[in-house]
Amino acid sequence: MTLTLDEKLRLAADEIAVSSSGRVAFKEPLAPFTSFRVGGPAGVLVEPRDEKDLEVAGSVVSRRGLDVLILGRGTNVLIGDDGFAGVVIRMGKGFEWIRGAGADGVEAGGGANLPQVSNWARRRSLTGMEFTVAIPATVGGGVAMNAGAHGSSLSDVLESARICYLAEGRTVEISAQDLQMTYRETAIGPGSLVCSAKFRLAPGEQDHIAARMDRYRLHRSDTQPAEAPNAGSTFRNPPGQSAGALIEAAGLKGHRIGGAEVSPKHANFLFARPGASAQDVFDLMAFVQDAVERQHGVLLLPEVRIIGLFDNADGLKTRP
Ligand SMILES: Cc1cc2nc3c(=O)[nH]c(=O)nc-3n(C[C@H](O)[C@H](O)[C@H](O)COP(=O)(O)OP(=O)(O)OC[C@H]3O[C@@H](n4cnc5c(N)ncnc54)[C@H](O)[C@@H]3O)c2cc1C
Repeated sequence: MTLTLDEKLRLAADEIAVSSSGRVAFKEPLAPFTSFRVGGPAGVLVEPRDEKDLEVAGSVVSRRGLDVLILGRGTNVLIGDDGFAGVVIRMGKGFEWIRGAGADGVEAGGGANLPQVSNWARRRSLTGMEFTVAIPATVGGGVAMNAGAHGSSLSDVLESARICYLAEGRTVEISAQDLQMTYRETAIGPGSLVCSAKFRLAPGEQDHIAARMDRYRLHRSDTQPAEAPNAGSTFRNPPGQSAGALIEAAGLKGHRIGGAEVSPKHANFLFARPGASAQDVFDLMAFVQDAVERQHGVLLLPEVRIIGLFDNADGLKTRP
């Protein structure tokens, strides 16, 4: 007897729930777990409490041949209106710890909040993580994306990460060098999960560290809009250029499609206004990309990860 995808997902949910201590839900809406606040449900949502729960989820997913998505704080994803037809592993409780690593280091779980790690380091007079003070990410999502700001990125301070290969049920410590971290990219692919990360910092003056963090926060509140759901910078900066400046020069500030809008304050921020669908945001991204390419001859590639199905999927180029 051939099972439908929903039947397979239901069985997978039951199987994971029986052997795992974390929360497991069937068809849970994902929009509340993303900063855009749009998108459909997860086939199955799993919130593992420990590495054993991860092993359980990984083995069920690989045995049943299901797709898997790892979700941090959802601040860099656009999930389609039909959701994700597989198993979503959301890093939360159980992976939120932060502790010291040697005299000048900090280690944190993949679900820990990056600004909290930054503040942890400040309290111990350790410098190096100040630039992450307002990046609203998990440690795992930050490492996977090589998040950065103010001229620094996590590759500058990451020493190593424990990576769980879900299909193989294997967790391995990998050096930052082997993760091949470049601008908003790493070798961490789907199915590889950052369980924890170790950062190498340096002793510093607590007042200077705090002052730098204040400056970064202030810069952000001065330059970045926050009045509607968004995912930060939508497009990557092309080498030597600013995506926001190119979009602004194309006259697109304030441009709307359905409930999606190019921020009138910072053109690389797209808003999902009340009533917006994920498709509206996708269509606006495709429109912006096309307009900038036609007017400036520059292809803007999305920084936001596109997940699930969209109409006119070929209308947005995600690779050069
Ligand atoms: C207001 C705002 C400001 C922002 N400012 C910045 C900024 O200054 N600099 C910057 O770089 N980004 C910024 N971002 C974008 C975003 O915070 C980063 O890209 C961040 O790294 C995403 O982390 P996350 O936990 O939300 O990951 P998600 O959005 O949940 O996931 C992003 C990607 O990482 C993968 N992933 C998530 N967790 C894990 C894990 N544990 N293991 C393996 N893969 C994982 C996901 O599968 C997905 O492919 C901003 C976003 C917002 C909303």
